[in-house]
Amino acid sequence: MSKVLIIGAGGVGGVVTLKCAQDPSVFSDIVLASRTLEKCQAIRRRVQELESRDIEIARVDADNVDELVSLIQAARPDLVLNVALPYQDLTIMDACLATGVDYLDTANYEPPDEAKFCYKWQWDYQQRYEKAGVMALLGCGFDPGVTNIFCAYAARHHFDEIHAIDIMDCNAGDHGHPFATNFNPEINIREVTARGKYWEKGEWIETDPLSVHKPFDFPEIGRREMYLMYHEELESIVRHFPHLRRIRFWMTFSENYLTHLRVLENVGMTRIDPVMYEGREIVPLKFLKALLPEPSSLGENYRGKTNIGCMIEGIKDGRPRKYYIYNVCDHAEAYRETRAQAISYTTGVPAMIGARMMLTGRWRGAGVFNVEQFDPDPFMADLARSGLPWTETFL
Ligand code: NDP
Repeated sequence: MSKVLIIGAGGVGGVVTLKCAQDPSVFSDIVLASRTLEKCQAIRRRVQELESRDIEIARVDADNVDELVSLIQAARPDLVLNVALPYQDLTIMDACLATGVDYLDTANYEPPDEAKFCYKWQWDYQQRYEKAGVMALLGCGFDPGVTNIFCAYAARHHFDEIHAIDIMDCNAGDHGHPFATNFNPEINIREVTARGKYWEKGEWIETDPLSVHKPFDFPEIGRREMYLMYHEELESIVRHFPHLRRIRFWMTFSENYLTHLRVLENVGMTRIDPVMYEGREIVPLKFLKALLPEPSSLGENYRGKTNIGCMIEGIKDGRPRKYYIYNVCDHAEAYRETRAQAISYTTGVPAMIGARMMLTGRWRGAGVFNVEQFDPDPFMADLARSGLPWTETFL
């Protein structure tokens, strides 16, 4: 029996709240707080309708540490589950440290005025969290999250040494909009327009944005073009897998998405620096976000599937081995269960499981952790039971 405080009432927030509500034996009390109270109210109604449970809701500006501390002191949760934006990671971590409450998130910190994300800012909390006896679990969505756990599971059961990892993320769904992003548009476009980067033989190698690509036959989907990108789990996996020689991250995009993105970039709509407009400053990407559909609104007519997994190569008993592990998620099925599309679903389910691992004591520790540092087995068993079954093959 425990109380969880969820911060962020977007696409992922809706799924994680609903999935927590499905397990009252662990999540006996749920508080959902976000910047816009109406969005919390809408999720509350969805939980009442689908799970016949009530939750508490609150308004909070998660950029403000004092407001967060007051909320945590009033709610007295056992865990704070952060599914707001990466910009809020450090303020929420500060508030958790001040109140001695455990912390979990799904995306690493990113400063608003610089399109750069890395774990350094959050790893720097290690000593303070350890000293306070508080636990922070970072990156517990699908990628980062399940992809890291797939690697930990492969290392434990199928390899003596892992030498190469390719993480491959394919969304072959169609939401019916000319252009929309599946998670927060601002964060998504910052990520996709950044320079690519991968790690090989101890060095980071940079590439021009989306310049390296190749086709791959995704099970249950078919052949899709996938593009090399930098993604945050590369940084923590390099740190935690000592025999690794190369790791890359690939994501598929439709021609339609790429054409829209190119036009928006060419006309300056993806800029994150302020420009003057009619006597006031606006940030073009923030303005664009206001025009695009909310990720939480995409579910109803979404058709098709996602496939996210890891291709892993290494050595077992002195012999080379190649292993592929992946999950396939259907947008329409995700919508039927949670009223959300598959990207929110594949992020919200692992976040709920990570919270369950912490609250039931199966994953414990004082300090700041990435998910691959814990025993993958109970998480993998829970994943299959909680709506994200996985498939493994030896090639
Ligand atoms: P949304 O934009 O749908 O939701 C974000 C929510 O955070 C909104 O409800 C927003 O409120 C709220 N929020 C923003 N700023 C504040 C603030 N200052 N105080 C309080 N609440 C705030 O995004 P998603 O749900 O799609 O994504 C949520 C998180 O999940 C992101 O960090 C994203 O990067 C991460 N993610 C991780 C993935 C993974 O696999 N690891 C995959 C997909 C997403 P308002 O509506 O009022 O703006």
